[in-house]
Amino acid sequence: MRLILLGPPGAGKGTQASFLADKFGLVKVSSGDILRSAVRSGSKLGEEANKYMSVGKLIPDRIIIDLILDRVSSGECDSGFLLDGFPRTKEQAVALTASGIDVDSVIEIQVSDEVIVSRMSGRLFHPASGRTYHVSSNPPLISGKDDVTGESLVVREDDKASTVRNRLDIYHEQTTQILSYYRDASSGSNHKVFSVDGSMSISAVSSAIESFLKP
Ligand code: AMP
Repeated sequence: MRLILLGPPGAGKGTQASFLADKFGLVKVSSGDILRSAVRSGSKLGEEANKYMSVGKLIPDRIIIDLILDRVSSGECDSGFLLDGFPRTKEQAVALTASGIDVDSVIEIQVSDEVIVSRMSGRLFHPASGRTYHVSSNPPLISGKDDVTGESLVVREDDKASTVRNRLDIYHEQTTQILSYYRDASSGSNHKVFSVDGSMSISAVSSAIESFLKP
């Protein structure tokens, strides 16, 4: 199984990606996680990526495409993978197709901008693991602390309100093009495209995606 998961920031994409990876034994390839770990490592790539990430802008295609294609074509993804956060532009989608990596399904989690902005205002993040929480819908066991390590949670720079609005604008602009690319025959393989209402509960969204994948 080779999946692409699309959704605006705060749509619950990360949560659904983890659920699907566990359920179907897929390797989760999250471009955001890979970039954040590059930023933490202090590498040259991380330093460059951070210039864009901290203001909610997309990393240039020339950087992200090689990074993700290397990961996906490595042996670890042979038994199936789920792409979370990639492709983010039509150019990235075209590069994926051109590399000969076919995907079976493209799943879009749809949530309105108003819902996203109110959700993001309570999002908390554990930098070392990438685990995310929400003060009301998915609170940590102890306020402000990671459930597993007990370390402090933070508000990610790119979850701040002005950055969120910037990211939503970019998301809508790019996703329209990505979806029409995958719905169009020029993308080659015979994948299915599915949109799910992401304003439902986490478990209702999971069930809808699962029944789409196991018809
Ligand atoms: P995410 O955790 O997927 O929301 O990604 C966080 C940030 O990483 C985004 O706001 C972008 O700056 C950057 N990023 C992640 N994936 C991509 C991508 N496929 N193309 C360009 N930038 C990306």
